[in-house]
Amino acid sequence: MALFETEALILRTYNLAEADKIVVCLSRSAGLIRGVAKGCRKLQNRFGAALEPFTLINLTYYEKEHRELVSFRQAEILKSRFNLSSNASVLTGFSYMGDLLIDFSPPHQANDNLYRMALACFEAVAEVPEDLDSVLRYFEVWLLKLEGFLPDLRTCANCHRAFTDEAVYLDADLSLRCLQCSNGRGGAVSKGLHTHLRTTEKLSPAKFAKEAREVSKVTRREMAELTFQLIGRVLERMPRIRL
Ligand SMILES: [Zn+2]
Repeated sequence: MALFETEALILRTYNLAEADKIVVCLSRSAGLIRGVAKGCRKLQNRFGAALEPFTLINLTYYEKEHRELVSFRQAEILKSRFNLSSNASVLTGFSYMGDLLIDFSPPHQANDNLYRMALACFEAVAEVPEDLDSVLRYFEVWLLKLEGFLPDLRTCANCHRAFTDEAVYLDADLSLRCLQCSNGRGGAVSKGLHTHLRTTEKLSPAKFAKEAREVSKVTRREMAELTFQLIGRVLERMPRIRL
């Protein structure tokens, strides 16, 4: 049995037996982890409030060879989200991001970029809850990109020429094509949406959300529709929560 220590973000918990919980978290050094926290629902327990969803913790756990479920030994709170527990829309947004992380992340595979991106998105929403929608769009685009499902936003998938000001089309195979190559077939991606998508590449979630306040409602709705479609196609079902 090996002992590990890592920073981790709690994504979801399930009650198990009388006093235990199964905890799903995204960890910095081991990716998605599912673990049992024994006795954590007893009044006096060593975990305290550290296993509440969306808490950032320093986690110590045991791992047995060939077992996916690890054993939580200790958890110290690095950042609590208790102050947001009465904000229903923020909690729904957090759950949505948590669900997608669980759906997209293979277990026990560290992905530092994904971990840092997710943390930055949770932080941006916690700082400015009014920016929730824009941060979720940013999160979706980056999640798709880091897991290899976002079409190339810069060049045509067919002729590999950089996109110009002409319309861009989303093909059935989730790639983007220029006007000539697509022959106008597929879903048209408007100039506004294309630019808005490209902005995610350059900015942090907080800065992207700030800029998005100046972007038209139509463009923001187009982006939500596109990411919703892309995620649906990757998961082969609709996301559990639609935001
Ligand atoms: Zn082309």
